[in-house]
Amino acid sequence: MNEFQERKVKLKWHEPKKSYDVVIIGGGGHGLSTAYHLATKHGITNVAVLERKYIGGGNSGRNTTVIRSNYGIPEAIKFYQRSVDLYARLEEETDRWIMHAQKGNLVLLHSEAAVRAERAKSELNQAFGANTVMLTRRELKSLVPEIDLNGGGKWPVYGASYQPEGATARHDRVVYALAEGANKRGVHIHQRTAVTGLLIDGDKVTGVQTNYGPIEAGIVMSAVGGHVSTLAGMAGLRLPIVSHPLQAYVTNHYERDFNVVMASSALLFYVSQTARGEMLIGAEIDRQPSYSYRSGQHFLQSCAKRAITLLPFLSKLRVLRQWTGICDMTPDYSPIMGKTPVDNFLITTGWGTWGFKAIPVGGEQMAQLIATGQTPDLIKPFSIDRFKNDRLMADRGSAGTH
Ligand SMILES: Cc1cc2nc3c(=O)[nH]c(=O)nc-3n(C[C@H](O)[C@H](O)[C@H](O)COP(=O)(O)OP(=O)(O)OC[C@H]3O[C@@H](n4cnc5c(N)ncnc54)[C@H](O)[C@@H]3O)c2cc1C
Repeated sequence: MNEFQERKVKLKWHEPKKSYDVVIIGGGGHGLSTAYHLATKHGITNVAVLERKYIGGGNSGRNTTVIRSNYGIPEAIKFYQRSVDLYARLEEETDRWIMHAQKGNLVLLHSEAAVRAERAKSELNQAFGANTVMLTRRELKSLVPEIDLNGGGKWPVYGASYQPEGATARHDRVVYALAEGANKRGVHIHQRTAVTGLLIDGDKVTGVQTNYGPIEAGIVMSAVGGHVSTLAGMAGLRLPIVSHPLQAYVTNHYERDFNVVMASSALLFYVSQTARGEMLIGAEIDRQPSYSYRSGQHFLQSCAKRAITLLPFLSKLRVLRQWTGICDMTPDYSPIMGKTPVDNFLITTGWGTWGFKAIPVGGEQMAQLIATGQTPDLIKPFSIDRFKNDRLMADRGSAGTH
């Protein structure tokens, strides 16, 4: 546990009850945010969050914490902009310092064609409520003086898009702030409690089987990150999800401030600075689907080389840590949220490499669905039916490097 959790956050642990109104499987950001919003916005507190390890131990505690809404389709822009706005108020709302820092989000462009496409995207962003503007090379250089605009002679930068409201927040603090907010209103959080099966009666789910025995539930929601295929399989569902590892690393302390989140659309990496001054670098998913949490030299070498091309100062720093999470990737790079063909069984998944930024809005919307039984308009486009109805929400802008 870190200092914040030890000194500040107080969670109460309970014996599991035999039955709850709502059982949420997975104590990551999305599961806990749903529990938090059920309790705070709808007064629904007979809720259990079941986590097989420890809360935040999945992708919600492994990500690079980028928050932005510069997406490529109207449905996603509106959805993520709502989350950008909710994140900005989350500290005040939870009375916990989640280290939310508005830094701005840059996407570097390395060809005329990329500039044209990004300009169209930024206009779409403006039209649907997200503030994304285009920057010239000179404006970019004044924001990031360290940048080599010639890209080592091979990857010249032609321009960039910039979203000033782009932000970061400390991931474990987000998880614990939401857990505490739910828990103090009566939600039970059970760690080391794995769901091993679902209780099914005819066409409907009536509860879960755990390593501590069965628990009945009015509604069961799956929020299990990269392990969703196994969980959905328990309900007899086959999802259009493939799980891929995603790696990231941090360097030692860089003595200057680097106050922006910067991604390169061609070199496919992104970089920011942590509150401790470390440079935090991420890239694309590993191509091979896998559940392996191993991180490797190949990723480190290729990612570091690309990052140094644009930011030569990185070559003077040392790598401190490297890690991996397992990402639930959809074919259209959009989430799957809502009801499933199995009664009383809901899912929030397909969060891939982009779901940290969606934690507040994802939980808010799923809680509204559970409380009212009606799918809110904001998440209707992300329902699982879209695959059957040929209504994919294709948006490569979900991955930070596109
Ligand atoms: C390296 C990396 C960098 C990333 N960077 C960003 C970023 O900068 N910005 C961004 O927006 N997103 C980012 N992401 C993606 C983001 O982290 C995830 O999309 C998000 O955290 C998903 O949250 P979740 O609650 O759905 O899943 P998780 O946080 O993975 O939580 C799922 C939980 O379910 C539990 N679980 C699984 N199976 C069971 C079971 N059978 N019973 C009980 N519990 C179970 C797991 O232990 C886990 O704790 C990144 C991901 C990685 C790996």
